Amino acid sequence: MDYPTIVLKPKEENRLISGHLWAFSNEIAKAPEGIVPGTLADLVHSRSGFLGRGFYHPHSLIAFRILTDQKDQEIDQAFFEKRFADAVNWRERCYPGATAYRLIFGESDRLPGLIVDRYGDYFVIQAIAAGIERARPTIVQALKSLFQPKAIIWRADSALRDLEGLPQAAPQVLHGALSGRMQIETENGKFWVDLLGGQKTGFYFDQRDNRQALAPFCKGKRVLDAFSYSGGFGIAAASAGAKEVVLVDSAHAALELAQENAELNGVADRTTCVEGDALALLARENPGGPFDVIAIDPPAYARSKKHLPAALKAYEKLNALAMKALPKGGILASSSCSHHVGRETFLEMLRRSAKKAERRARLVELRSQAKDHPVLLAMPETEYLKFAILKID
Ligand code: SAH
Repeated sequence: MDYPTIVLKPKEENRLISGHLWAFSNEIAKAPEGIVPGTLADLVHSRSGFLGRGFYHPHSLIAFRILTDQKDQEIDQAFFEKRFADAVNWRERCYPGATAYRLIFGESDRLPGLIVDRYGDYFVIQAIAAGIERARPTIVQALKSLFQPKAIIWRADSALRDLEGLPQAAPQVLHGALSGRMQIETENGKFWVDLLGGQKTGFYFDQRDNRQALAPFCKGKRVLDAFSYSGGFGIAAASAGAKEVVLVDSAHAALELAQENAELNGVADRTTCVEGDALALLARENPGGPFDVIAIDPPAYARSKKHLPAALKAYEKLNALAMKALPKGGILASSSCSHHVGRETFLEMLRRSAKKAERRARLVELRSQAKDHPVLLAMPETEYLKFAILKID
């Protein structure tokens, strides 16, 4: 097959040669007219020659996404099958015996713009690049041939799609059938997931390792899981022997799932679900209050760089409230899933929160996203989650 040639500007190749997978629009020297967004193309450089084959988008800030640096590699079903097989191997090494995980984490699995979550025999796909949307039939065929899935679900409701000019759409079953909720088993317990109606693709796998890291601190303790969604942290804490767990989320549907998850794991007698605003609940607490451990996992406050200053103020306020609510020796597990908040900025925010709360904090652990959301070292953009366990005195 012949691929159109996109020429990179002089001096812009080093990042790509080092393993970064994007070329930005201002780095493109020349491209044929009238290319449809997401067309497969070759990226070349006047001095370094062929850099990679991937998706070109004439109107996106991310103009080129590299799929392969092999010039003889066709982007066909076999290509996707190989990438999927590599991805399964890694997940099986990280989580032996697991059948539910993020199978493809976009760029980190060398499939830019593609997310695939696996729930046993059910697969949920998200496309956040025009090229992936165009390649959908091939991707679906590759999943079918490799995994013989009971269903493949397509979710086109990520805000990132706007940046590629892709429309938002309701979840859709592309293959097979799916009725109602289903159950998954993870190292943190069993969970009901709602693949069509749930948030994102149905479950937050990115916090799985962090739930494991926090669980030992919860034994015999009173735990607040704030922004709980279906109860990931709280269920893990209760299963690890927490005395009492309160889950709070503002979404009714999330708490319904959480309540059923408590029952599913046999911890409903120690678990209370509260529908409401986590900030308001925290503001009512005081150091004599009922919690020894507080996990806060708010939605991304900084949706773009422009929102960063306001977002940092909101994180600071939330964290200060949580710190104030803990007794001496209490544990705060604080998360931020905003791409635009870097590790150092996150720590700086926590320092300001501690000052505001007039508390001393010891950093016990600083963590990131789970191993099924790998970070590509050459691409800092692939890291987004920050997770700190702090001892508050
Ligand atoms: N901790 C969860 C994931 C949380 S996602 C897990 O481990 O699975 C963020 C959650 O915050 C969503 O479920 C959303 O409904 C909830 N949320 C957003 N604003 C809120 C608020 N002001 N108070 C309580 N929950 C809120």
